[in-house]
Amino acid sequence: MTAPTPLPADAPERSNFIRDIVAADLAAGRIAAPVTRFPPEPNGYLHIGHAKSICLNFGLAQEFGGHCNLRFDDTNPVKEEQEYLDAIEADVRWLGFDWGDNLFHASDYFEQLYAWAVHLIQRGLAYVDDLSAEEIRGTRGTLTAPGTDSPYRGRPVAENLDLFARMRAGEFPNGARVLRAKIDMGSPNINLRDPVLYRIVHAAHPRTGDAWCVYPTYDFAHGQSDAIEGVTHSICTLEFEVHRPLYDWLVEHLPVPHVPHQYEFARLNLTYTVLSKRVLLRLVTEGRVRGWDDPRMPTISGLRRRGFPAEGIREFAAMIGVARTDSVIEVGQLEYAVRGVLNRTAPRRFGVLDPLKVVITNWPEGQVETLEVVNNPEDATAGTRPVEFSRDLWIEREDFQEEPAPKFFRLAPGREVRLRNAYFVTCQEVVKDDAGQVVELRCTYDLATRGGDAPDGRRPKATLHWVSAAHAVPAEVRLYDHLFSRPDPGADGDLFADLNPDSERIVRGAMLEPALATTPSGQTVQFERLGYFTPDPDSRPGALVFNRTLTLKDTWAKVRARA
Ligand code: ATP
Ligand code: MG
Repeated sequence: MTAPTPLPADAPERSNFIRDIVAADLAAGRIAAPVTRFPPEPNGYLHIGHAKSICLNFGLAQEFGGHCNLRFDDTNPVKEEQEYLDAIEADVRWLGFDWGDNLFHASDYFEQLYAWAVHLIQRGLAYVDDLSAEEIRGTRGTLTAPGTDSPYRGRPVAENLDLFARMRAGEFPNGARVLRAKIDMGSPNINLRDPVLYRIVHAAHPRTGDAWCVYPTYDFAHGQSDAIEGVTHSICTLEFEVHRPLYDWLVEHLPVPHVPHQYEFARLNLTYTVLSKRVLLRLVTEGRVRGWDDPRMPTISGLRRRGFPAEGIREFAAMIGVARTDSVIEVGQLEYAVRGVLNRTAPRRFGVLDPLKVVITNWPEGQVETLEVVNNPEDATAGTRPVEFSRDLWIEREDFQEEPAPKFFRLAPGREVRLRNAYFVTCQEVVKDDAGQVVELRCTYDLATRGGDAPDGRRPKATLHWVSAAHAVPAEVRLYDHLFSRPDPGADGDLFADLNPDSERIVRGAMLEPALATTPSGQTVQFERLGYFTPDPDSRPGALVFNRTLTLKDTWAKVRARA
């Protein structure tokens, strides 16, 4: 696998074949400006795969002075809900894109689509079929064998018009009849073997209520919606390539106001991740996760709750590019893009996940010193903050070993280490409880090392993070790992058997520097040496909850180095 180079923040968009097509259409005067659309079906929350499509569609419109519509493909009322419509709008906006006035719904066009269906019937290009869904499937043929004509294929136009009107009027139950295009049951492309255009569904629609009981299929709604909206480049994923001849057939045989063209690109696949709304919905409904926005979910809302910045997701989309070949991207590449942004932007803070008490025996009881600590060494404009230092401190339990292992350079009896931005301390005594568990370290500090440097130039081998016990605020911290335990979940058949049982670990009793109590929601900070963290929406004053966004360790960087 070859490693991509991340784009500098001010780089022009990296080119891709779709961008080249748009640029050529502009240069040749075939279009004045590109019109694209992002067309989610409101049957679930958006995921990182959708983000790739959003960045592509909105990105092209932005770059070439066109516009991108947000269009809900709301043609299946059984699976669609207002909650999803609202979440999708919020997620696209959060990703940093703006559709302006161009918010549409396929349901806005139901009356026009119905009229166009009638138009096809009148020209002998569509017919009402009484076969059941199963019978239609059974007569469709295979990749090698042609399909067979429905006995209703020769229905006279007048009868078709009458039956279609009565379908709309609600005279027939679900599944009793459908409207099919009359194209070619012998076509090598199964999508052209008299595809279904309308089905009867007696279900209330989130927007049109009970106005309709016949609904257009995706194939009948999609291209015509593009045509109505003047979409120039209708960009979708590769599985729709075989639908393109039908898309073109419909546009050609209907009096549409504009002729759009469809282009396909490879969908995003990620290791350790499932990007299928059907599966994500099951994870939610079966209670395998906390909800659509669970920080382990690959949804936009999950990534946001996890602390991934929108900029990191956009940068990831730019890094991976757009191609016509299916591939699987390492999830480490997403994490790499996000770490790059967070390293530049995340304020540094002190937090101790597994606290061990340290008492500085030569520090006067009750004395508190306020140190000015740099917020972000990568960003001079981020300034400093006051951090209190005192006699009783917390350090990370794993930063001490009573009998240090060979390459363990952190605190041990008799050993000196640096407390970040504060002083050098030396461990003089180890206090244990009756069970032999270390409960406290008694240390001395060197006054001359204030700020973290010794006048005699001596340098301890380790620098530890710490918080002052009297000032610390307790918190629950949720540590996350991949939701699935193998890079190709479900490859052995049972997807749910591949769920990672350790994908969430909850740590109670972490001790944080007081500034963290007021971290605004949506801000991701770095706990020094531990990783990036963000407040969870469950967080309350006095009952703080933080999610670990990512550790600092960058496995992708190592993969790159090896490549
Ligand atoms: P899912 O397979 O998760 O159900 P979908 O294609 O059914 O996805 P839609 O709401 O129809 O979901 O998708 C809206 C747009 O997002 C479509 O244009 C689709 O091609 C695109 N899209 C969906 N999944 C991906 C992905 N993994 N990578 C890139 N684009 C995607
Ligand atoms: Mg779809």
